[in-house]
Amino acid sequence: MLEKWLKESSYTIVFTGAGMSTESGLPDFRSAKSGLWRTKNPQQLASTYAMQHNRDEFIAFYQYRIRTLLKCKPHVGHMILADWQKRGLIHQIITQNVDGFHQQAGSTNVIELHGTLRTVHCSRCRRTYDAKRYVDEQFTCTCGGFLRPSVVLFGESLPYDAFEQAWTAAERADLWIVLGSSLQVSPANELPVIAKRSGGKLVIVNMEPTPLDDWADLLIHGRKIGEVLQEIDELL
Ligand code: NAD
Repeated sequence: MLEKWLKESSYTIVFTGAGMSTESGLPDFRSAKSGLWRTKNPQQLASTYAMQHNRDEFIAFYQYRIRTLLKCKPHVGHMILADWQKRGLIHQIITQNVDGFHQQAGSTNVIELHGTLRTVHCSRCRRTYDAKRYVDEQFTCTCGGFLRPSVVLFGESLPYDAFEQAWTAAERADLWIVLGSSLQVSPANELPVIAKRSGGKLVIVNMEPTPLDDWADLLIHGRKIGEVLQEIDELL
């Protein structure tokens, strides 16, 4: 059914979450068995509070995440999405991910709602550096300011332009496909609802149930995204 909708739709959005990248070896946050939040407290580690008051733990957490990221690469699912975009089957990728895998796989014009883990920037002068600085234990800018990961922390707003673009896309979408998101993080989880309310079809591919399942026209649970995308790709 999804292959038919992909062919018919004139404006398709793919909306990805951390579950998109678990098959690359990056843990997500909320998977029941393996998510990072099972063993760590987000407010302690990934927040503006942690950056100010728990800096050693904050740095250790992001060093771990950047090291892990640099060892991983996009998987077949990312490649298929890049190919579909080139073929005009999907029109926009909007991601909550900070790993940059869609771009590495060849996708263009990706909207990153939560920033990127590929760079760090100075919290004083905003100069940007490669995230490898963290792995090399360099946390200070030439101006003396603290270098922080270029991700949206708990306690910060989403980048205004990215969210506005995503909202406009949601209003226009006639097919919105969620891949690997628990849909628990606000305000990103409002976007599928906007798409649905604006008349689009909603498809959710996620290993576990989500709070928006009742809104979906098609639900695929308990299956890996990579496998699902390969299957659909063969039918196209
Ligand atoms: P989440 O961790 O809340 O939920 C991920 C969902 O993906 C889970 O419900 C899980 O069941 C599902 N899932 C995991 N592997 C899957 C697979 N192979 N196939 C199908 N489903 C799978 O993630 P979220 O909703 O994106 O929200 C968490 C926040 O985590 C985001 O803000 C994001 O910035 C951040 N994050 C990003 C990365 C990354 O960039 N790769 C990694 C961890 C966390």
